[in-house]
Amino acid sequence: MSDPTNDYAYLAHNWAAVRERVDAACRAAGREPGEVSILPVSKTFGPEVVRAAMALGLHRFGENKVQEIRSKSEALAGESIEWVVIGHLQTNKAKEVARLASEVQSLDRLELADALQRRLEIEDRSLDVLIEVKTSPEDSKHGLPADQLSSFLHALRGYDRLRVRGLMTLAVQSDDAEAVRACFRQLRHLRDAGQDQGHDLARLSMGMSGDFPLAIAEGATEIRVGTAIFGVRQIPKTYGTGLNN
Ligand SMILES: *Cc1c(COP(=O)(O)O)cnc(C)c1O
Repeated sequence: MSDPTNDYAYLAHNWAAVRERVDAACRAAGREPGEVSILPVSKTFGPEVVRAAMALGLHRFGENKVQEIRSKSEALAGESIEWVVIGHLQTNKAKEVARLASEVQSLDRLELADALQRRLEIEDRSLDVLIEVKTSPEDSKHGLPADQLSSFLHALRGYDRLRVRGLMTLAVQSDDAEAVRACFRQLRHLRDAGQDQGHDLARLSMGMSGDFPLAIAEGATEIRVGTAIFGVRQIPKTYGTGLNN
């Protein structure tokens, strides 16, 4: 077990450091620091760590597994937390997502949109969604192929429970900053093209611990940060705090 007081001090330090780097990246890009928000990614960290992060004023957390959202929301019942799904989603998880998530950033296919729409109707809810676009050649990356975005956006107009807010991507994992930037730039261009077609795509979720300054330079409105806030993820399947140990 971790010591919650230590968790708080550790998180407070990391959070301030990330916020400072975000602000510096904004200034370097001629942008206002307030233009970029940070989504803390709490995956693999337990509810006690999320609670420590809440003491910093954070209440919106990114997770990539629905079962982690379920167990953390049970452990933190009564807290007002918004859970954001950022990982690849299987269609059979739509029921829980419709119940527990406030937003999905990994919408990448109509089959999933169908399942979410149906479950959201049953729950009588709606959901903010970002469309995950594949901007990297790596097979391990999910996302809609870029050349299908226009028709996908058009089709989503028929899904009244899904509020499309923008686009999300993961850049190629590379030491070549230009290759990483090219992924982010492509997402921004796709966003601009979609907006020209009349779609409301204000949000660009791109950039993680290792590459967020590049994403901010290319127009990110939101970055998803795990490691730089919570520390290295040591135990991927079950909860480990990873903090101070
Ligand atoms: C884990 C994850 C992140 C955060 O990654 P870090 O490198 O730890 O900041 C961001 N986006 C997605 C989709 C993730 O799965």
